[in-house]
Amino acid sequence: ATPVSVVVGTGRAAQSGVLFRKGDALERLNSVHIVAFDKTGTLTEGRPSVIDREVIGGADSLHAIAAVEAQSEHPIAQAIADEATGPLPAVSGFEAVSGRGAIAQVGGAEIAVGSAAFMDSRGVDLGPFRDAEARYLTQAATPVFAAKDRQACAVFAVADKVKPDAQEALAALKAQGVRLAMMSGDRREVAQAVGAQLGVDTVRAELLPGDKLDVVKQLQTDGPVAFVGDGINDAPALAQADVGIAMGAGTDVAIEAADIVLMSGAVAGVARAKTISGATLRNIR
Ligand code: ADP
Ligand code: MG
Repeated sequence: ATPVSVVVGTGRAAQSGVLFRKGDALERLNSVHIVAFDKTGTLTEGRPSVIDREVIGGADSLHAIAAVEAQSEHPIAQAIADEATGPLPAVSGFEAVSGRGAIAQVGGAEIAVGSAAFMDSRGVDLGPFRDAEARYLTQAATPVFAAKDRQACAVFAVADKVKPDAQEALAALKAQGVRLAMMSGDRREVAQAVGAQLGVDTVRAELLPGDKLDVVKQLQTDGPVAFVGDGINDAPALAQADVGIAMGAGTDVAIEAADIVLMSGAVAGVARAKTISGATLRNIR
């Protein structure tokens, strides 16, 4: 592409909230036929809420769990912390376990909160909550568990909404001949429900934070890949992708690793960027 046409193309894009941080990304995006998306915060709002819960041990138990989650930055943790009203007990030794959960001491007991895999890894028997877990999964809600001294004491159904423009934006990409992939640390059932709703071709779920980079590498064996993400955990995948696209509402680390930033956080920006890239390169040829 000539320098002038790239300036025109990136200028047009900027007017619609699509910022090209690197000029050659416009050309690289034109050759991309696989777009992979992070799920939470990218295709979904990333503002989950608790829609159901089962707690053993009443308000004391709920307050201990909420106290731990109040220390965590994870959006799921904020939703769970909001379940308790009034003052929370003191917490010590808080530790966040990336992609799994959190753990701390509350009132002389060890409280762990997180995924089923996290509980399994700690030897917690989830037997009392397996029925609720199955029910939540059929509602495409993520079951999040809590344990007190390694005894399961709660399960929460955590639900996040798909962004209003996601369905149309992904359909527009498909109409441009793009293959769609989605990656998530969430449960398979939840990720597949979101993927099916949006017409995603390939869904990879239950990934640990480091796994997204490897999935991008696997997809790249079929051709150039664009990856769209918002989180700290997405930075390695954004850097590895042929074109990294970050949500403007995302973390600074993701934005710095990206070639393109979507100012509004709207998924439609991805299709718009691809259209502008194609139009710019066609003008030149
Ligand atoms: P995603 O890829 O969906 O953004 P993460 O990799 O951040 O998810 O986390 C994966 C899973 O780990 C979550 O779905 C949740 O079950 C669990 N998890 C992580 N941190 C916490 C926390 N602080 N409290 C509860 N659950 C957590
Ligand atoms: Mg995310």
